[in-house]
Amino acid sequence: MSGAERYPHAFSPLDLGFTTLKNRILMGSMHTGLEEAENGFARLAEYFAERARGGVGMIITGGISPNIEGGFGSKLSTLAEAEQHRLITRAVHAADPEVKICMQILHAGPLAGSELCVAPSAVKSRIARFTPHELDEAGIEKQIADFANCAALARSAGYDGVEIIGSAGYLLSTFLVARTNLRTDRWGGSFENRMRMPIEVVRRVRAAVGERFIVIFRIAAMDMLEGGLAWDEIVCLGQAVEAAGANIISTHFCWHEAPVPTIATMVPRAVFTQVTGRLRRALGVPVITSNRINMPDVAEAVLARGDADLVSMARPMLADPELVRKAAQGRADEINTCIACNQACLDHTFGGNQPVSCLLNPRACNETLLHYAPVAAPKRIAVVGAGPAGLAFASVAAQRGHRVTLFDAGAEIGGQFNLARRIPGKEEFRETLRYYRRMIEVHAIAWRPNTRVDAALLKVEGFDEVVVATGIEPRLPALPGIKHAKVVPYIDAILGLQPIGRRVAIMGAGGIGFDVATLISQDGPSGALDAEVFAREWGIDFKHHPRGGVTGVVPQAARAERTVWLMQRKADALGRTLGRTTGWAHRMTLARRGVHMVSGVEYLKIDDAGLHTRVNGEPRLFEVDTVIVCAGQTPLRTLYDELQSAGLPAHLIGGAFEAAELDAKRAIYQASHLAAEV
Ligand code: FAD
Ligand code: NAP
Ligand code: SF4
Repeated sequence: MSGAERYPHAFSPLDLGFTTLKNRILMGSMHTGLEEAENGFARLAEYFAERARGGVGMIITGGISPNIEGGFGSKLSTLAEAEQHRLITRAVHAADPEVKICMQILHAGPLAGSELCVAPSAVKSRIARFTPHELDEAGIEKQIADFANCAALARSAGYDGVEIIGSAGYLLSTFLVARTNLRTDRWGGSFENRMRMPIEVVRRVRAAVGERFIVIFRIAAMDMLEGGLAWDEIVCLGQAVEAAGANIISTHFCWHEAPVPTIATMVPRAVFTQVTGRLRRALGVPVITSNRINMPDVAEAVLARGDADLVSMARPMLADPELVRKAAQGRADEINTCIACNQACLDHTFGGNQPVSCLLNPRACNETLLHYAPVAAPKRIAVVGAGPAGLAFASVAAQRGHRVTLFDAGAEIGGQFNLARRIPGKEEFRETLRYYRRMIEVHAIAWRPNTRVDAALLKVEGFDEVVVATGIEPRLPALPGIKHAKVVPYIDAILGLQPIGRRVAIMGAGGIGFDVATLISQDGPSGALDAEVFAREWGIDFKHHPRGGVTGVVPQAARAERTVWLMQRKADALGRTLGRTTGWAHRMTLARRGVHMVSGVEYLKIDDAGLHTRVNGEPRLFEVDTVIVCAGQTPLRTLYDELQSAGLPAHLIGGAFEAAELDAKRAIYQASHLAAEV
């Protein structure tokens, strides 16, 4: 079945009167960090062009500030700056003249990165570095004029449109919400006054760019903020923005400070689109929906039930730039699906010191640097270990033309991802395994399961290159009683190979300790798979939509009856090493379930009475039935050492190379780079 037959809504064009979008899938805005990097615009040009070739209908760039005071990155306020943007617009239109590209105008307001930052009132955001300057009347007029100037410059640089962001805690949204707008003049007080600024911006932008230019306004359709926008205010704003000249309204579900996850992997797919659907019925212009739409069938379902006219997929375009083309060609099973981990995208953005990329696709934002060029002289390559490192290496090497044989001691591919996918909230990880299973077929990789490889086997088969990706061994601390019947290694706990009691101590609070605590403290279905459970756990009322969607709603933890202590030796608060943009949600989940977090623990012994410790120097017995060990890992190098002794050269990647601070991001990155070179 062709893509157009299978996804009829997604592949129908959208006529905007003066221009037509070729399909209903757009690449949403993401700040990549390339905007400020050396040679950044040339790299951005190739990054966007690759997505244009990949079939997307419209692209929204990362946020560009209209002036110095609104920025945390690049700005566009001069002709010289507009000239740089031509690299991007030319590359995209050359890649496919039918693809539209719009520049997002992002005035960060109180979240801007300098002391010059401005806002309707001097209210400091919890996550900001500076208290903003309160704008006076002249200052407000300057900001509006700067938006209009920026839009006109974007048009002169060859963009097909602009998207104005009016959500997330940036300037325009801080005018809208009463808790950040304390003004008593015509820009504050009543909602009519509070929405004057965004409306004026849209009106002046439209006047500056003329009629035949796309103007999108991004609205917070549910901002997840106590005391945030009420539903009637959202509808009123949408209608006023439309009347002021926006051609498209994009719905956003975000306020950066809000304590509700909206795009992490524990969020169900497309859970927020119902809100867009309600707003759409009150508006005349097309609307865009977003958040956790990561596969074409999800997009199609959203469009088919009338929730939106267009679907925004942002991170999925990092994970697989060819997503739309693969869907169009009936090859959706070849899509490398975004697992919403945030590890190489948003964690990098908010970490501040690494450009954005993707855990699954290290080429993302490195299109000019990392090439998977076809090989002139194919080699026979053995890859031992079908975890993320071995799978990534095998796929890239085989895609380049090498003849690859992939071995694993187990019956299935995946390595530790087969454990990760069993954790509630990490169900998406199974998509990665589906993708690699398909890559094995597409690239004719010889797959040899149930084969524990040793040096003799490799010698007999005589490969040109050997890649050892044998992963790790869990660490078992040397502790009296570590062999006691109540001690369970994390692998057994996750696979359900041993019973887990009612009172449980988890030794080790790294990523795996947190995951195990989530698994054993969970009661009922995973919130990631059930919208109602998710809404209950995070206190969202989709039905009545109180202010912000959350005001006055008490989160209800999906709490099991077990008593769980999660512990570490370090004196710090637990969870410091978790992802920057997701760690807080994991910590909050466990805290709401009553999991006890204990730091500064010295483990002494395990016996029938339980786990004997000293906590911050004081003796303490945890009277538990089960001790689950999540105490880190060491490299599994038996095969590599054997090969070294036999004088057989081999490459070492993933956990087998280095287990400390290993994650799939590093494993796949290292494997992909080696496969590009071999
Ligand atoms: P592994 O995944 O360990 O794979 C090694 C493979 O080699 C295994 O399949 C093994 O059977 C095979 N093997 C070993 N010896 C031989 C032999 N002699 N012959 C044949 N085959 C052999 N990482 C993240 O980035 N994000 C996460 O959210 C995340 N969550 C996780 C949750 C859990 C519960 C767990 C356990 C891990 C998680 N990780 C996560 C870590 C991630 O899974 C690992 O970093 C990654 O799997 C390491 O990949 P690898 O290929 O080096 O090793
Ligand atoms: P980890 O993050 O290194 O944590 C190991 C834990 O064990 C720490 O709490 C450590 O803290 C403790 N520990 C270390 N040596 C010990 C010893 N000898 N005795 C007792 N405790 C000891 O490793 P992990 O949890 O096994 O995770 C493995 C990798 O998978 C991690 O690097 C992680 O990045 C990745 N992962 C990521 C995620 C994610 O969501 N991003 C989720 C799961 C796993 P103390 O030394 O203070 O006790
Ligand atoms: Fe998606 Fe994770 Fe890649 Fe970000 S790093 S694009 S969340 S798979």
